[in-house]
Amino acid sequence: MREVIIIGSGPAGLTAALYAARANLNPLLIEGLESGGQLMLTTDVENYPGFRDGILGPALITEMRAQAERFGTEIVQGDVSALDLQGPPFRITTSGGVHETRALILATGASARLLGLDSERALMGHGVSTCATCDGYFFRDKPIVVVGGGDSAMEEATFLTKFASHVTLVHRRDAFRASKIMQDKARANAKISFELDTVVDEVKDVAQGVVTGVVLRNVRTGATRELAVDGVFIAIGHTPNTKLVEGQVDLDANAYIVPVRGTATNVPGVFACGDVQDHVYRQAITAAGSGCMAAIDAERYLESLPAHDPQAVETASAV
Ligand code: NAP
Repeated sequence: MREVIIIGSGPAGLTAALYAARANLNPLLIEGLESGGQLMLTTDVENYPGFRDGILGPALITEMRAQAERFGTEIVQGDVSALDLQGPPFRITTSGGVHETRALILATGASARLLGLDSERALMGHGVSTCATCDGYFFRDKPIVVVGGGDSAMEEATFLTKFASHVTLVHRRDAFRASKIMQDKARANAKISFELDTVVDEVKDVAQGVVTGVVLRNVRTGATRELAVDGVFIAIGHTPNTKLVEGQVDLDANAYIVPVRGTATNVPGVFACGDVQDHVYRQAITAAGSGCMAAIDAERYLESLPAHDPQAVETASAV
């Protein structure tokens, strides 16, 4: 029986592990299939405080991991196939066996939706990005494309005009899902033009290892053309990784976890941090901050339980 198990190995999970380890809770962290989370898909991270010259996303994860391990976090590879939150104890089934814990921290993140192109995957972090806030700065005075027709696409296109010489917003239909106010703002921006009924068929140029353009196809006419750009921002939404807790933990309409107080969920002893409960900020630093909060909340929850009394564990309430 563990005191704390953390699921997820992005900045939220690793920070929760660091704090839990330093609180002598001997945490076990289960990595998940996408080890390191979304930072593994980025190159330079210039907005994480403490690294004035920037740091590569994977290198930042390596540092966080080593720091969590230094204080005794045990990290196991593997994906969780089932979660039983009827406890405590909570039961977590992985390919390596079943783990039991008195407190559980969910840091399973969200995955940016992608177009599904091989070229998009190959050039991720080399001109293809899923985060305007993170990467916009790298495209000063350069033409870029934003893909999507929702609020995120409008917001990112508008934000990116601060840097880019021109933004072409590519959307697969002729009507936007975005709210009118966000659309109006984007339409009023002279640096944004629109390619509607249009999809990206390919991101160029994998052979050169950087983005040099996109192949656009009009879905009505079938006509294709190449547009020279230096960056491609995919803004077609995110999917929170909450399949495992569906029906057990309260989720909002978009399937994000809804914390009830601090990082505590509606299930006493289960806490959530990082992008799995945040569709607004979605930054490494905010994820890390909420990971710290989750560890502190879990520690206080455990302290509130009478020690070594399994009956009490079962009846104790949340922090
Ligand atoms: P979203 O509303 O789900 O919109 C996703 C957009 O991407 C849609 O236009 C969709 O096209 C398009 N898309 C999806 N899959 C695609 C694919 N494979 N290829 C091409 N296009 C694809 O996602 P979101 O914009 O990230 O917004 C998510 C939620 O956050 C929404 O509730 C939104 O209002 C909210 N949000 C609010 C703000 C704000 O208020 N400041 C900012 C950002 C987000 P179709 O329309 O054809 O389906």
